[in-house]
Amino acid sequence: MNTQPSPVDQALSRYATRTGHPFRSPQAALFDMDGVLFNSMPGHARAWEQMCLENNIPATRDEFFMYEGRTGASTINILFRRTFGREATPDEITRLYARKSQLFRMQPPVSTIPGAKDTIDACIHAGIPTVLVTGSAQTSLISRLDSEYPGAFPPQRRITARDVDHGKPHPEPFIKGRLKAGCQIPPYRTIAVDNAPLGVRAAAASGAFTIGVNTGPITPGTLLAEGADIEVPSMHQCAEVIRLLLQL
Ligand code: MG
Repeated sequence: MNTQPSPVDQALSRYATRTGHPFRSPQAALFDMDGVLFNSMPGHARAWEQMCLENNIPATRDEFFMYEGRTGASTINILFRRTFGREATPDEITRLYARKSQLFRMQPPVSTIPGAKDTIDACIHAGIPTVLVTGSAQTSLISRLDSEYPGAFPPQRRITARDVDHGKPHPEPFIKGRLKAGCQIPPYRTIAVDNAPLGVRAAAASGAFTIGVNTGPITPGTLLAEGADIEVPSMHQCAEVIRLLLQL
C-alpha cells in the first residue's frame, strides 16, 4: 500500500508548519499576471537582452526571469554594478528603461498561458472571487483581461503597481488583493499564484497558501526555496492543485 503523502498533502503540512495555521475552505484566489495569465515574460526578457546588447552590457536572456517583479531601476543597477562596478545615474536609468520599454512594445503579440483559463474557471465555478495582483502598470495587457478572462478580474478586483506603496517581494500587494476579495477573509483561506521568485516570496509572506508556477526557465525548486507551499511546472497543473484545494 502506498503511504506516501500526495504533493498537495505535503504542501498543506508545509503551509501549516510555516504559518502555524491549517489551510481550509478557500474563499479567495489571487493571481499574478505576467507569466501566470499572459505569456509576456519571453518578450520582456528579449527586450532586456537587446537593450543590453546595444549598450555593451553582458547579459543572458534567462537571467531576466529571475529579476521579474523588480523595478526597472533595480534591474539596471544589478547590471551596472556587475559590469561597471557602480550604480547607474538617474539619467542612465531613464534612458535605458525607456529603450527597454520601446523594445518590449515591438515584440510579437502576447498570448495567454495554457491552462490559465482552466484555473480561473475552476475558481469561478466554485464561487471563489478571483483577484489580480500584479506589479505591472502595463495598460496594454491589463486592458485585455476583460476579453481574455471575462468576469474574472473586474476593475474593483485588481491590484497593480499603482495601488501599492511597496511592491513585491513585500507582501503588501497580496494583502491588499485579499482585502479586495472580502475584508473578513483570513490568509489561511486565500490561495495565491505567482511565477517569479520575488512574487512567490511576497505571496508566502502575506500568509496565503502559495502556488509557485514555474512557467519560465528558472531552475526547478527555486520557487519552493522562496517559500512556495507547492511548485508546479504549468498552469495546467496549477488548475489540478486548485481543484483539490477547493474541495477542502
Ligand atoms: Mg509574474
